[in-house]
Amino acid sequence: MPRRRQIYEGKAKILYEGPEQGTVIQYFKDDATAFDGKKHEVLDGKGVLNNRISEHIMVRLAEIGVQNHFIKRLNMREQLVRRVEIIPLEVVMRNIAAGSIAKRLGLTEGDALPRPIVEFYLKDDSLGDPLVTEDHIAAFNWASPYELGDMASNAFRINDFLSGMFAAIDIQLVDFKIEFGRVYEGDAVQVIVADEISPDSCRLWDRNSKEKLDKDRFRRDLGNVIESYREVARRLGILPEDPTPLTAVED
Ligand code: UDP
Repeated sequence: MPRRRQIYEGKAKILYEGPEQGTVIQYFKDDATAFDGKKHEVLDGKGVLNNRISEHIMVRLAEIGVQNHFIKRLNMREQLVRRVEIIPLEVVMRNIAAGSIAKRLGLTEGDALPRPIVEFYLKDDSLGDPLVTEDHIAAFNWASPYELGDMASNAFRINDFLSGMFAAIDIQLVDFKIEFGRVYEGDAVQVIVADEISPDSCRLWDRNSKEKLDKDRFRRDLGNVIESYREVARRLGILPEDPTPLTAVED
């Protein structure tokens, strides 16, 4: 493969310049990090699974008209995506109390929230991604009020759709994080979904056993992280029932 210019390296992904203007290659690493990077491990095959799961979700979202950066999967670990200007916010949607909301508001993990709730966090590792209000976002101009409205309504729509998609395979979508980016077309600016949607960025619980099938298995040292991600992929129908070891068939 010809050498490509690296644009950015994050904790779980690397971005390379794409073959055409306005495109980027997103490479999924096996690295897993938590607690602001203090916990770090390499989980063999995670990148391959997240590449496939995120592809599946982005394609399904595009089918219902939720615009996103995905163009096509290139190989086991890479996908071609649209180049965007990332909005420095993490948009979190929640259906069931877990993680930081349970801690912050003294809720019991597993309790259904009165209704889905959207939250915004500032993407800033040095500050530990603090929760911010809509007024912070407007005052500091991280996103325009129009963009904010667009992100929130998209987040609710994605939540409805993905909750149904996962319910159909006996998985509860507890919460998830999405990111958005701007694309410029002439004078028009559009906000589209970017980054990834995978068990790294969602809480997914088996409906019956309540077993966690997501990154909490890594955060909380529950073991079987890859097996759980593979189970999500299998239920989504994107892995053969009896897969060859994923890392052995790298292309
Ligand atoms: N999340 C994420 N990246 C982050 C923080 C959170 O993908 O930097 C996801 C997380 O996996 C969960 C949801 O966003 O699905 C809500 O996370 P929460 O605020 O509860 O924080 P956590 O307990 O994960 O620190």
